[in-house]
Amino acid sequence: MANHTITMQWDEIPENADDLALVQGGAFRTFRCDCGTPLPTRVTAELHAAETNQCTACLGSADEEVVPGFVRRCSACAATGRRNVQLVWEVARGEAEQVITIKLVRGIIDAFPGPFRLSEVADATRSALGLPVGRLPVGPRVRDLLRELEAAGELVMLSAPDELLRGPSVVLYRDPQWQRVPEPSP
Ligand SMILES: [Zn+2]
Ligand SMILES: [Zn+2]
Repeated sequence: MANHTITMQWDEIPENADDLALVQGGAFRTFRCDCGTPLPTRVTAELHAAETNQCTACLGSADEEVVPGFVRRCSACAATGRRNVQLVWEVARGEAEQVITIKLVRGIIDAFPGPFRLSEVADATRSALGLPVGRLPVGPRVRDLLRELEAAGELVMLSAPDELLRGPSVVLYRDPQWQRVPEPSP
């Protein structure tokens, strides 16, 4: 049986590189597989990962190198590197989107008089729905909804980023804190 360990190498990253293409678009990387299949682009690498039952996000490595030197565990496959786990998590993500609504999260943050952390809202959401830990990706879904409320002006983020990956344009938050914007008094 051929060995399908897919590895990624960084190309030269220009000073003025497009940050979105770099972080999310899979640009500035070269891929190869131990079996010798040519993988000229990120897309071909993802296809090869899928056909060899490996996660298409981390290409089977279980890690995700966001920028050179910054690695985090792959969230798409619960850091297993396996395609079947990734597919199960995709279904779970869809389910989380159905059950964790913006209305639910709004109700939960109403119970916090002061600032609150992502982890606190995620825990409260989990217990409101009676979900055991690890059953659904609650944290990522809650984070997306809180960012939505923030974009709508209902919340303001209080945290400074935990990590600046490429200056201030690509940043990382671990457990950010928000506060509700008080409603204008009549
Ligand atoms: Zn291969
Ligand atoms: Zn993965």
